Amino acid sequence: MNLKKTDPKIYKLIEAEKKRRQKGIELIPSENHVSLAVLQALGSVLTDKYSEGYSGRRYYGGQEFIDQIENTAIDRAKKAFNVPYANVQPYSGSPANFAVYIAICEPGDIIMGQNLLDGGHLSHGWKGTISSKLYKSVSYHVKKDGYIDLEEVRKLALKNKPKLLWCGATAYPREFPFKELAEIADEVDAYFAVDIAHIAGLIVAGVHKSPAKYAHIITTTTHKTLRGPRGGMIMITKKGFKKDPDLDKKIDKAVFPFGIQGGPHENQIAAIAVALKEALRPEFKKYGKQIIKNAKVLAEELIKKGIKLVSGGTDNHMIVIDLTSSGSGRGVFLQDALDFAGITANKNTVPNDLSSPFFPSGLRLGTPAITSRGMKQAEMKLIAKWIIQTIEIIKNYQLPQDIKKRKEYLNNFKKEISQNKKIKQIRNEVWEICKKFPVYTDIV
Ligand SMILES: *Cc1c(COP(=O)(O)O)cnc(C)c1O
Repeated sequence: MNLKKTDPKIYKLIEAEKKRRQKGIELIPSENHVSLAVLQALGSVLTDKYSEGYSGRRYYGGQEFIDQIENTAIDRAKKAFNVPYANVQPYSGSPANFAVYIAICEPGDIIMGQNLLDGGHLSHGWKGTISSKLYKSVSYHVKKDGYIDLEEVRKLALKNKPKLLWCGATAYPREFPFKELAEIADEVDAYFAVDIAHIAGLIVAGVHKSPAKYAHIITTTTHKTLRGPRGGMIMITKKGFKKDPDLDKKIDKAVFPFGIQGGPHENQIAAIAVALKEALRPEFKKYGKQIIKNAKVLAEELIKKGIKLVSGGTDNHMIVIDLTSSGSGRGVFLQDALDFAGITANKNTVPNDLSSPFFPSGLRLGTPAITSRGMKQAEMKLIAKWIIQTIEIIKNYQLPQDIKKRKEYLNNFKKEISQNKKIKQIRNEVWEICKKFPVYTDIV
């Protein structure tokens, strides 16, 4: 049976999405283009298998090969991140983080994480999420200069005595202060968990420092800079075992059977193993270096033209443009206008954003996907030029103060911008460049 014949509707939509990714420039920093090898493992018959439990102790028969696949993924994860333990079963980053709570916290315990509007992740205790309902969540912030406010973290930690301190973010363009945060966690005897979802690939490539020496627990997604399938992992460091020799049993049980998951997705785990093998090759070091080089060039080009960036630049794969100087809530205009120009990015809050996460004042960009396609400094300069032109095109649009009028205003904006000649011109230029950088043929 062949998808094209049996379900032409879905087949065509997948092909259309493939084409969209081929024709456009992907700047969402949490996205990437995986290799054909990863896609092959992900689309394999392993999806048929039930394998609740862990290697050598499963609830179902027929695990001879599944155990070897999962063990391979675990061994490669341990090697890549230099840790003595890895659980590769979490379905994604958020469930991985939830398993950490289940493993080491009781409901009502105090937890600390980076505030969402300051770049932090929902699953680190943002209000309204289950992580803030089950646990007492205290958020720390970034300073005016965009860097984590370590003094505030220490003050809040000494006052609240958290059980768990998170480090990690979804919109933070600087290196994380692992050492300083670890010292604060140690001072109050908290578990220190580092969520490297965004930067995992940079760490394996050796272009961002590793948290292995400082954290007790490391969580990650596998689909961002690491360039694997969507998935999650939880790792324990030597320091983690020193603090709690039973931590492995606690994490395993929290993932299955006492947490929020059932049977592991072994096709996904096989694809993670494949991605980790790719990440352990010397070529991946080059890839990591190029991601950062590209981000720095893109940032410099934007700054040269007077664009304000959160923290004034980047140390990693990510850039957050701050549009507040021209009015708040403008990220949505830039995202939508760039979309019509064939450039995909995402609106994001900036520190001290007066607007809401739905109408934020910033735009988040990243270089992992375009670097996977082989784009380099010359293309970064073009991309910066297109972004600057688009900012100019949208400069007279302002979000209405009256919330009820926003929807209509934005619909109108989209209509106008989709017909804008300059936007169409950019889109044509984008298409031309993208032809030179094929996706999903094979990735170096
Ligand atoms: C992306 C991300 C996650 C969540 O991953 P999902 O796979 O979307 O659940 C968790 N933490 C951080 C810091 C992230 O950037």
